[in-house]
Amino acid sequence: MNKLDAQRQKEIQQAEELLFTGPQVLGFAKGLFQGHFVSDWVMPYPRIPAAQQGELDDTLTELRKFLDEHLDPAEIDRQADIPRSVIDGLGRVGVLGMTAPKEYGGRGFSQMANCKVLEEIGRRCASTSVFVNAHHSIGIRALLLFGTHEQNQKWLPKLVTGEQLGAFALTEKEAGSDAANVQMQARPSEDGSHFILNGEKRYITNAAIAHELTVMARTPVPGSDKTAVTAFLVTPDMPGFEMLEARMPKMGIRGTATGRFALRDVKVPKENILGPQGKGLKVALTVLDFGRTTFGACCTGAAKTCLELAVQHANTRKQFNKTLGNFHLVKKKIARIAADAYAMESMTTVTAAFIDRGLEDYMLETAMLKVFTTERLWECINDVFQIYGGSAYFVDLPLERMMRDARINQIGEGANEVLTSFIALVGMRGPGMEFKEIYDTMMKPSRDRMSKAWAAGKSRLGATIRVPDVPVQSDQLRDYARQLGHLIRRFNFAVNRALITYREPILDMQLVQERIANAAMDLFASTCVLSRLDGEIQFARRNGDAAAPDHSAANLFLRQSFRRIRGFLAGLTNNDDKSVLATADSCLVGPHS
Ligand SMILES: Cc1cc2nc3c(=O)[nH]c(=O)nc-3n(C[C@H](O)[C@H](O)[C@H](O)COP(=O)(O)OP(=O)(O)OC[C@H]3O[C@@H](n4cnc5c(N)ncnc54)[C@H](O)[C@@H]3O)c2cc1C
Repeated sequence: MNKLDAQRQKEIQQAEELLFTGPQVLGFAKGLFQGHFVSDWVMPYPRIPAAQQGELDDTLTELRKFLDEHLDPAEIDRQADIPRSVIDGLGRVGVLGMTAPKEYGGRGFSQMANCKVLEEIGRRCASTSVFVNAHHSIGIRALLLFGTHEQNQKWLPKLVTGEQLGAFALTEKEAGSDAANVQMQARPSEDGSHFILNGEKRYITNAAIAHELTVMARTPVPGSDKTAVTAFLVTPDMPGFEMLEARMPKMGIRGTATGRFALRDVKVPKENILGPQGKGLKVALTVLDFGRTTFGACCTGAAKTCLELAVQHANTRKQFNKTLGNFHLVKKKIARIAADAYAMESMTTVTAAFIDRGLEDYMLETAMLKVFTTERLWECINDVFQIYGGSAYFVDLPLERMMRDARINQIGEGANEVLTSFIALVGMRGPGMEFKEIYDTMMKPSRDRMSKAWAAGKSRLGATIRVPDVPVQSDQLRDYARQLGHLIRRFNFAVNRALITYREPILDMQLVQERIANAAMDLFASTCVLSRLDGEIQFARRNGDAAAPDHSAANLFLRQSFRRIRGFLAGLTNNDDKSVLATADSCLVGPHS
């Protein structure tokens, strides 16, 4: 086996270990790749139960009042600091322990309700929403998910009130996108009572203000010469903990404290291991699922602010004797922001509901949500920036700050390129395995193999012929539902064709992967929008609302999303990929290198 093959085998083995721990119920996104519309997970549109809605409304009222009175995003950006009074206030409202169980002092909110809270903060100040995410969505998440009762009793009560703060430390110089390449070492002590940690972490949000850090480090695998990543609870008062840079100066989300620290022979008791020893990457990826969901909520909030600002300016600024809102090229931008904000909210709600309803595997959906919402938000900010013209460039308006703040979203918690490739490859794995079954049987027929290959063949063929049913309740949405069903079938056909045409080399063909992932993301987004629209129409009907609610943004999104999906699928056979790669290669080895 050559070096490249060995590396590929290692990557596949790692991914298998992380992602495919056993048979699971078919999730929505994996279903799309198989040509199915798994309607149970997405329809009807999820709603927060009435009992919790009241509690959420009260919390949102209290939160809005607090933010109106005490949160100054421009000052936070100028001072590059979130005042302790703001952190304390968020703690009092319950934001810093929203989803923690009540027995540990948390609010016991669902993910859906928590997303509404994060949307409200993301609407106003990205520094503050990223701080809350780092503390709650990822900082204390490993404890919430994998902590034992003793660990939770010991650590959570102070963390959920904000008296103490949390952070999540995965990234290192050599382990950025390649998260599995963690180099920090954790050596067991001779008596087995603790581990000795050595190494450095960088780019860690809240590192310098946290009292508890979930740190990923490499431990030996007993009985072998291998190592695996394990999650540890580390506190900065442990001897050997050295803060190298408390606040790395940076472009956006300047209020957050992004730090670099070293652990030098830090003794961490074995009781501080979170989750099973050696399963730290699984812990990290599960934690990031939650982070990516609230990322979607924060981006939704920011997109709604973009819409408000765009409308305000377009209705007041006059040029050529007209307000800007009269020009079609301005209208186009406003319409697009409205459509995208509607979709971002719908997708966030549906994804959060997957977590609340206990779907076992929602990695694909959270990755889709993260990539989709962060890319759309970047477009929204660019559009509203353009509508404001020169005035957007000056610091008395929030737009230049919003633009600086939003840029991290496409990089943090998994760069969008890495997640795009992940979406395509994990999604295609199901149909890919079926084709492999058929291919292996053709090469080496046997009685046992024949029956498996027959089942795989039937499944692949069935998905190619069948148009999945998209069960909407509202008559006026049947045409959209029919179009969506046809697009899923076309998508499945395109996935099959790509797998048959390229076979294993597809693992490296990121331009093909990108089109497949983009189509899948728009199929998921359209589904969420259709489900929500259906729910709203049915709700209005049940309540006898005479006036038809305005659904123009949802309608526009569906039309644009369907058009994009057709474009992505057409691009699979009509593209400039060879030329793109040749040009890049000539740059990479040519006079620019
Ligand atoms: C402000 C800020 C806050 C952060 N907070 C935290 C935190 O709290 N905890 C934590 O653990 N980490 C944190 N991070 C780290 C963040 O998650 C990483 O920056 C991110 O994972 C990317 O790693 P990297 O910066 O090393 O980029 P690299 O891995 O060097 O990647 C650079 C670029 O290369 C491209 N690329 C890389 N791999 C591939 C691939 N396989 N295919 C195609 N393209 C690829 C992508 O375009 C990517 O953007 C934070 C970072 C920042 C900037």
